Amino acid sequence: MKRYLVEPGKKIVLAERNPNDTRAFEGGKEKGLKVLQELNLELQALQEVLYAEQKHRVLVVLQAMDTGGKDGAIRRVFEGVNPQGVKVASFKVPTPEEMAHDFLWRVHKVVPGDGDLVIFNRSHYEDVLVVRVHEYVPKSVWKKRYDQINEFEKLLAENGTTILKFFLHIDKDEQKERLQARLDDPSKHWKFRLGDLEERKLWDQYQEAYEDVFNKTSTEYAPWYIVPANRKWYRDLVISTVLVNTLKDLKMKYPESEENLDGVVIE
Ligand code: ADP
Repeated sequence: MKRYLVEPGKKIVLAERNPNDTRAFEGGKEKGLKVLQELNLELQALQEVLYAEQKHRVLVVLQAMDTGGKDGAIRRVFEGVNPQGVKVASFKVPTPEEMAHDFLWRVHKVVPGDGDLVIFNRSHYEDVLVVRVHEYVPKSVWKKRYDQINEFEKLLAENGTTILKFFLHIDKDEQKERLQARLDDPSKHWKFRLGDLEERKLWDQYQEAYEDVFNKTSTEYAPWYIVPANRKWYRDLVISTVLVNTLKDLKMKYPESEENLDGVVIE
């Protein structure tokens, strides 16, 4: 999965990343889905220890263009994990109260505590993406935010938070198909916004803004992964693999009882 990691300090060009790539898994979709199931069981077990041990904090950031598959990835990757200890934080257009604070205020409030795994569905990166593309604040303001984000994530990492950031990479044709599928299916109309079509016109500006994000904010302590996401099964497989491997590396253990349980008999 290293090939999807954005190495800190190394400049990447998004157009060179193939969203159809399925290279890291030879077996094809059918086998891929089986492996995904196995990974899902592993993740369930790891999350259980994470929760029991109350020592580590895990933050998963998901970013994507519209229809990139954040919702689907959350559903599939985290299927069956114990909702106790796992939370999703979704970041929408800031409320007036949020707007009246610095951009990290609403974010810091929902970062994981001991034993928690928190998934960010969108994140503080919107403040250098949508905000930059639409010029909601002047350049002099947003350009400082990359450093501010790095400092913020460093603070979290130095306080026991493992951070993983995933960009679900689809191409413009795939977005068209997914938008069309939403339009054709009345049960998906709730997901369709005319505003999405306006955003689609800004595709290139968003890709440019994303490139800056990867080039400026992929760090040792909070790396970005650019996940090929045209194929949903592969997208989920990449995220699950990285997550499971990262959690395994934490070498978590169930805590021992603080009491002596030797010879205890239950009557
Ligand atoms: P999603 O598309 O993630 O499923 P929504 O359709 O509710 O969820 O979209 C959330 C919207 O909130 C997106 O258009 C996103 O760009 C916007 N948003 C998130 N954070 C900010 C921000 N800091 N400033 C302005 N808009 C934001």
